Amino acid sequence: MSSTKNQINEQDRKFRHALELAIEGGVLINCPYHEGFIYRGNEQIESAYKLANSKWASGKINHDHFETRNEMTDCIKTVVSEYGLYSCNQCRDLINK
Ligand SMILES: [Zn+2]
Repeated sequence: MSSTKNQINEQDRKFRHALELAIEGGVLINCPYHEGFIYRGNEQIESAYKLANSKWASGKINHDHFETRNEMTDCIKTVVSEYGLYSCNQCRDLINK
């Protein structure tokens, strides 16, 4: 029971790191007006991979964050694929009002 819970937490933690990398790479954008609303930026996913790989190479990201480099890029891919919109839903609603 508790091991299942730990696995979920572990997965959550990895996705959070992946999300941070995607945002830092400009692939995803955190709406400056609406906290927690995330949408696609102009950068291609390769930008996040590049950033992540250079952090991995310099040791800023290591096995504490992800088990392997491949796992890291897989997580980034999964996270980014969850966001299909190119603008914040909330902002768009405001404009359309
Ligand atoms: Zn917004």
